Amino acid sequence: MISVESSHPTAPVPLPVLASVPASGDRRRHPAPAHLRFFHGPMDCGKSTLALQVDHNQQRQGRHGVLVTQGDRSSAPQISSRVGLSRAAVEVDAGTDLKLLVRDRWAEGHRVDYLIVDEAQFLTADQVDQLADLVDEGHVDVYAFGLTTDFRARLFPGTQRLLEVADDVQRVQVEVLCWCGLPGLLNARVVDGVMVRSGETVVVADTAPADPPVAEDGSSPAVRYQVLCRRHYVRGELGPVTTGPGQLALP
Ligand SMILES: [Zn+2]
Repeated sequence: MISVESSHPTAPVPLPVLASVPASGDRRRHPAPAHLRFFHGPMDCGKSTLALQVDHNQQRQGRHGVLVTQGDRSSAPQISSRVGLSRAAVEVDAGTDLKLLVRDRWAEGHRVDYLIVDEAQFLTADQVDQLADLVDEGHVDVYAFGLTTDFRARLFPGTQRLLEVADDVQRVQVEVLCWCGLPGLLNARVVDGVMVRSGETVVVADTAPADPPVAEDGSSPAVRYQVLCRRHYVRGELGPVTTGPGQLALP
């Protein structure tokens, strides 16, 4: 870093010539390196809102992006957030070749400067490696957003691979608190009011009830997800009865 700070502002400070900093013309010939950035956190932490904010900021700089998601809480392929923002997105699944997806855009004559990937926890390891290739070979900036852990408090596959290979990893912790007031960290699965720690890692992109397993008598238990601090996750303590996501029931 070059510091031009001086205790005597009027006195010019000679700047050293740094051969490692290319002139602007050189930077144009050699595009600035792109990055794979991963933002992760528990449910309701505002990841989708952040994804849309990043997209907005990139667009304002005149850059062109593609948004991808899977299993978004809305049925239409889009990235949507609880604060009411939404933007059309490409729905992908485990079989989608993300490099091909971008190359097809290029082949159609579209610019793709950046990629925003929501629900990145559901990516396969191969797909995360495809994102890394897009960054390194295609100079496409990738911003991935996903849940950290599933209801068993284990890393999702896509999350694990992103933690392994991303250039930059940030934990998002802005909105969600455990019922006790401590930062929410882990996603608990609650079946008929009881926290469960084993079972299928169902693809659920929201705190809304998943398709519940059907009991032998044909009834469907109520399944929901709740964000807890680590202490209350370990103890399985769900706190006061809730009437909805993040809402405490009044006595
Ligand atoms: Zn707690």
